[in-house]
Amino acid sequence: MDFSRFSNIVNGLPRDSKATYHGTNPATGEALYDVPCASEQDLDDAVASAHKAFASWSKTDFEQRCRLVKDFAQAFLSYEAPMKDLLMKETGKPRYMADIEIRGSYASMIGTTTWTLPVETIEDDTKSATVRYVPLGVVGAICPWNFPLSLSLSKIAPALVAGCCVIVKPSPFTPYTTLKAVEIGHSLFPPGVLQVLGGDDKLGPRMVSHPDIQKISFTGSIPTGKKIMEVAARTLKRVTLELGGNDAAIVCPDVDIEKTAPAVVQAAFANSGQICVNSKRIYVHESIYKPFLSAMASVVKKMKVGDPFDEPIDLGPIQNSMQFDKVQEYFADCEEKGYEFVTGRRECRPAKGKGFFVQPTIIANPPNNSRVMAEEPFGPIVPVQPWSDEADVIERTNDTNTGLGASVWAKDVERAERIARQLDVGSIYINSPSRPDWRVYFSGHKESGIGGERGLQGLLAYCNAQAVHIYK
Ligand code: NAD
Repeated sequence: MDFSRFSNIVNGLPRDSKATYHGTNPATGEALYDVPCASEQDLDDAVASAHKAFASWSKTDFEQRCRLVKDFAQAFLSYEAPMKDLLMKETGKPRYMADIEIRGSYASMIGTTTWTLPVETIEDDTKSATVRYVPLGVVGAICPWNFPLSLSLSKIAPALVAGCCVIVKPSPFTPYTTLKAVEIGHSLFPPGVLQVLGGDDKLGPRMVSHPDIQKISFTGSIPTGKKIMEVAARTLKRVTLELGGNDAAIVCPDVDIEKTAPAVVQAAFANSGQICVNSKRIYVHESIYKPFLSAMASVVKKMKVGDPFDEPIDLGPIQNSMQFDKVQEYFADCEEKGYEFVTGRRECRPAKGKGFFVQPTIIANPPNNSRVMAEEPFGPIVPVQPWSDEADVIERTNDTNTGLGASVWAKDVERAERIARQLDVGSIYINSPSRPDWRVYFSGHKESGIGGERGLQGLLAYCNAQAVHIYK
């Protein structure tokens, strides 16, 4: 397997194209490998091939589908080392984070094959009725750049297990690991069952409007999610939308500051703030606000930012220049408004090179309506505010258009759970940073999404329910 050459995969074969594009190594600014840019014809061919394959794949024995997905997971893991290097190159993420992504992808693929599709039956004197779950058809999986591999594989595995055929579209910023993973796995399946198309800005909208794709599973930003839902409505496609968040971390007064502050820093800054479920607003009880803030600041100041290949580092660069510029806006806004930079206003780019590096930064007590509190910077700049009244901090947490996740930190777990139950978000972690788990449904409330992934419900999202009523 050559990890420096990449193709789209259509109808069981590699497909190149005259037009190409490339990603950029965000730690060095260097151009990475050229990859083919899928045309409209490539998409039409992939959809036709998927349709043809669906007729038999959807009827292939469930156990057999699971076996093939397991084989795919094993084949994928056998390339762990080169895949990790490629992932580090395309995203800039530290090795330990790439490790989590690869091992997590594997675990979630294997885990998905352990579900069974439920059959619900009711019976009375007149009839029996049975509800079964049948595959939806052809799925378009549209993926973002922050966890390119795990977010594409966590769509591919349940789609295939459910009996759907899937066409994956990676982000143009990070096409490499997804193209390679599909190259590794596709030949285990009949042609057309698993395909990948990388392309330019036209490809995603074309997939969403394509009349022969039955579902779009999308992970990305809220504005794109809204566009997708609007366009998908024209063909009444099913959509799963996993969108942005502005997750709060609520720190209660009884925590052990020395232990909790580093964990909250990890929750906020892991992957340089480029995780949908990073803590993006931190509320610390006023009785411990000052010591907690300074404990966080001392951890943040020691974090090493750099090229993941110059180990050891804690944080890599921002993944792309567009996002780098966006993150700069939050720094500029905080500076302009005179907010306190607890960790100091540190130079973003390191002296040595062209990477998109940003030093992790804490902003002390900016107002509720400041951009850094109210929006998702998706970078390593995190505001911390004090709180005193439980009802008030719950209200502040819920006062947003997003509802992806949250965390509550307390020794008194009953209190933490009482707070958690009042938060309008899809996932809450008590005394831990967010750790999405393949066994547990993951979904956003409000503008953070429609539907969800993972768990049995995530698998059923690739199915239609079908009820058969038999009269006696
Ligand atoms: P994005 O919305 O810019 O792009 C995501 C994907 O959509 C890319 O593949 C892109 O090419 C494609 N796309 C763009 N416009 C499209 C259109 N009109 N129609 C169809 N496809 C289109 O998002 P991003 O910048 O890649 O990702 C960052 C965002 O993703 C953040 O907001 C983050 O919170 C969110 N995210 C959410 C989750 C989650 O599970 N909820 C996970 C990771 C990231």
